[in-house]
Amino acid sequence: MPATAPSPTDADLPSVFATVESEVRSYCRSWPTVLASGKDSWVTDTEGRRYLDFFAGAGALNYGHNNAHLKGALLEYLSGDGIVHSLDIATTAKQHFLETFDRLILKPRGLDYKVQFPGPTGTNSVEAALKLARKVTGRESIISFTNAFHGMTLGSLSVTGNSMKRAGAGIPLVHATPMPYDNYFGGVTEDFGWFERVLDDSGSGLNRPAAVIVETVQGEGGLNVARLEWLQALADLCHQREILLIVDDVQMGCGRTGEFFSFEAAGIVPDIVTLSKSISGYGLPMALTLFRPELDVWAPGEHNGTFRGHNPAFVTASKALEIFWSTAEFAAETADKGALVRAGLEKIALSHHGISARGRGMAQGLRFDDADLAADVCRAAFERGVLMETSGPSDEVVKLLPPLTTSPGDLQAGLDILAESVAVAV
Ligand code: PMP
Repeated sequence: MPATAPSPTDADLPSVFATVESEVRSYCRSWPTVLASGKDSWVTDTEGRRYLDFFAGAGALNYGHNNAHLKGALLEYLSGDGIVHSLDIATTAKQHFLETFDRLILKPRGLDYKVQFPGPTGTNSVEAALKLARKVTGRESIISFTNAFHGMTLGSLSVTGNSMKRAGAGIPLVHATPMPYDNYFGGVTEDFGWFERVLDDSGSGLNRPAAVIVETVQGEGGLNVARLEWLQALADLCHQREILLIVDDVQMGCGRTGEFFSFEAAGIVPDIVTLSKSISGYGLPMALTLFRPELDVWAPGEHNGTFRGHNPAFVTASKALEIFWSTAEFAAETADKGALVRAGLEKIALSHHGISARGRGMAQGLRFDDADLAADVCRAAFERGVLMETSGPSDEVVKLLPPLTTSPGDLQAGLDILAESVAVAV
């Protein structure tokens, strides 16, 4: 049986949402308001109420809402009748994006990756990664980790941990084996040894996997942070056993943890990388699957799709890279802001029992031993004008993903409201 969620309500919304839109809607139940506009780190509803957005499109708005530079580039492109839709036909917008991505992201990091446009969402990118790993190795099984989240289509679900989401598949989710993520046993058991042992034991029953898919920080799984040495050991293990390493950077990439890719801090080079959410920079759907050139065994058209050439997203993506990633300044600023947020969270955690701070960079949160409190805190924060969501297997973590461009003053204002919300909820 899937875990039953507490029954949230969106009864205060105009009735069309309940009468016409499917029961599957979710965020609007936690935040029963109708948003009308957004600017940078703020959104405004139809009543004129402003909210500080510490949710940021679940990580899709790292540069905030309607960033002026990105909007300018987009409007200019549209007013010049630039091509909007193009499948994978070559366009000026795509050419400029590929050149800019290569010049500002890949080359400076010494990364030799081919770029695939797998379709517009994170799960599209993951599906392409899994298919490619299987095609390259001729093996079928994929290793995933406890509490992983990789998306809602069947391949991605098969490597996702959450039992409620998995149950939604309606068919067996196969060809994937979960392993303990770093610190799964709270440091009591050497988690990593388990994986190494079963890989090398011909009696373990583990089929030789095609790939391992991992998040460096599990965003949906409760802000679990893998130690950098754990990631390095995982990369070494994969390399030695000729297993492909896929880093799913859909949520933690594009600067969320500080540097552009979340794996940079560990000094590892994955074989395949998935990116989406903030790659367009403007909240426009866009995704990339990156892989070593030797892995580029696709036949032309073997993995295609109608929406792989959303040119407005290429335009804003190029502009975002030019504005934020031409120098190392933005990553350094993000690290400073992450430290500010972390300090605020540590302070809150110290003043109450059963609360701890967790996260890396600008993906930070508070974990509550009493899981129900996390939703109470988010509700109290919403009432006080801050949007933040819960994550984790029991929704026990209040997750903060503010736009990376949020000013230190606004970050502090949000933290103050969070502190107040915790005080009223506990
Ligand atoms: N991978 C990770 C790590 C994610 O966090 C998500 C979305 N939360 C996805 C994949 C799926 O992305 P999408 O919702 O765009 O399909």
